[in-house]
Amino acid sequence: MIRKPIFAANWKMNKGPSETEDFADGFLSKIQHKTFPADIVIAPPFVSLAKAAEKFGNVSAVALAAQNCSEHNSGAYTGEVSAMMLKEFYLHYVILGHSERRAIYGETDETINAKMLKAREVNLRPIFCIGETLEEREGGKLEEVLRRQVSIGMKDLTERDLLDTVIAYEPVWAIGTGVTASAQQAQEAHAFVRSLVAEQFGAESAAKIRIQYGGSVKPGNAAELMACPDIDGALIGGAALEPQSFLDIIVNGS
Ligand code: PEP
Repeated sequence: MIRKPIFAANWKMNKGPSETEDFADGFLSKIQHKTFPADIVIAPPFVSLAKAAEKFGNVSAVALAAQNCSEHNSGAYTGEVSAMMLKEFYLHYVILGHSERRAIYGETDETINAKMLKAREVNLRPIFCIGETLEEREGGKLEEVLRRQVSIGMKDLTERDLLDTVIAYEPVWAIGTGVTASAQQAQEAHAFVRSLVAEQFGAESAAKIRIQYGGSVKPGNAAELMACPDIDGALIGGAALEPQSFLDIIVNGS
């Protein structure tokens, strides 16, 4: 099964509209006249989506993502943004269940599942993040945690939803720490996640779904990680804040 790799930049709470414009100008000048055997996604903060849509709206090589959406349609939810509102920004993807949303903002597997279903109602493609903490890994709970996150987070997705979903396996201990999972650790976790998808949705869907690795991916480690058979791209934080570094990861990893 050939799965097209997908490289997504998660800018987190970095880059307002003017820095988004600077990044876009730099990145676009570097990718001009080039084609990539990979999907490229950029996830700016909400307030920079309009600028990103202005810069990348006509660039077929780059798709945009939001970093979160509400589990509700509209109403008295101060500070929240609905999936339907996001569709107006020419978005294709939405990152859901990032470990920072889980740990800092208390998002549960059930909330994340509700967000996944809302995103699918408007045809947004979830980049669904899962991953264990160091304590969980060292306590022998890796498989239990991933099983719970996948079974609840992806509950009630249809086969069609599944084709449009990307899973990002991100060991929490590797996010923003400079410590990357070894290629072997990452491959083992990815193969296990794929087996969970097979249990829940069947072997055919499991063979098709793309599973990104996330956690301190850099230009220097992208090739080794991406060479693993069950790793289909990367979700990148820090190293995707600079156009050349993001591009180097895409090139080295594809
Ligand atoms: C992330 O934010 O999802 C991430 C993987 O960050 P970093 O690449 O900085 O570890």
